[in-house]
Amino acid sequence: MDVYGLIGNPVEHSLSPPMHEAAYAELGIDARYVTFEPDRDAAGQAIDGAAALGVRGLNVTIPFKRDVVEHVRTDDLAERIGAVNTIDFGPVADDDHETGTDADPPRPRGYNTDAAGVQRAFDHHDVALSGTDAVVVGAGGAGRAAAFALADAGSRVHVANRTAERAHSLAEAVPNAAGGGLDTLADRIPAADVLVNATSVGMESDETPVDPDLLHADLAVLDAVYSPIETRLLRAANAAGATTIDGAWMLLFQGVEAFEIWTGRDAPVDAMNDALRAGLE
Ligand code: NAP
Repeated sequence: MDVYGLIGNPVEHSLSPPMHEAAYAELGIDARYVTFEPDRDAAGQAIDGAAALGVRGLNVTIPFKRDVVEHVRTDDLAERIGAVNTIDFGPVADDDHETGTDADPPRPRGYNTDAAGVQRAFDHHDVALSGTDAVVVGAGGAGRAAAFALADAGSRVHVANRTAERAHSLAEAVPNAAGGGLDTLADRIPAADVLVNATSVGMESDETPVDPDLLHADLAVLDAVYSPIETRLLRAANAAGATTIDGAWMLLFQGVEAFEIWTGRDAPVDAMNDALRAGLE
């Protein structure tokens, strides 16, 4: 039996176990997906232990996404984002054998599938990103993943964040991007095609980081917040006639991408989506 899992703290309410185990059941894969809560400073030990035990893959969530970067070999996207949410312990490729030695064995590979989650959520809703003007609200982990995902898909990105300095430094790292405080939203959203809320505003509360009067019918709005499923921002976007994409789609597709990295197989998206949404009800 193969073992996959999630490291984070806390992880008790994670929906990743039912989502991934639905995929194993659908495809007849003999595997389990379990959660682990290492101490805050034990990311490296957790990864070494998982490798020694033959764990095939790990997802990584708060507070370890940045800490694990130094313990894995990141792909280009995870390197640029500066955070890893998926670790693959799978068979080591030939070129990796050449770089590793007995004293310094090759490290597992690290990816950021939150970015793919953003791109695939838009793609699933037939929103073409190339050439669009996109606004990302938030410059934390989700904001970084969204900004790089949108830029890589061909959007011009404006990052707006409560702490403007964080938006500026993220925008400097992202191609074709600019940044500013939340006060820049009033100028940017009326001309935008795409809007992503990557702040935690609206999580378990009926608040929105964006003035509803700024929303319009030509926008596609993705809210990374998934609890509640229909946030105040998405309600307002719906009322304005915008295309709306809830945070469960991003959560689903980061898991779909991780599954595909680990198994090399197409994920059973509908089965994973059903399991995820059942858990969110
Ligand atoms: P994070 O790194 O802690 O960043 C939090 C962000 O929210 C920062 O930009 C912060 O601004 C902003 N913020 C917090 N409180 C605010 C307020 N009262 N007003 C305005 N801005 C505020 O967190 P994260 O990991 O990026 O997660 C952000 C949200 O995305 C969470 O709700 C998380 O659950 C969700 N998320 C969803 C997915 C998914 O798959 N759907 C994936 C990842 C995250 P400052 O920089 O000024 O503090």
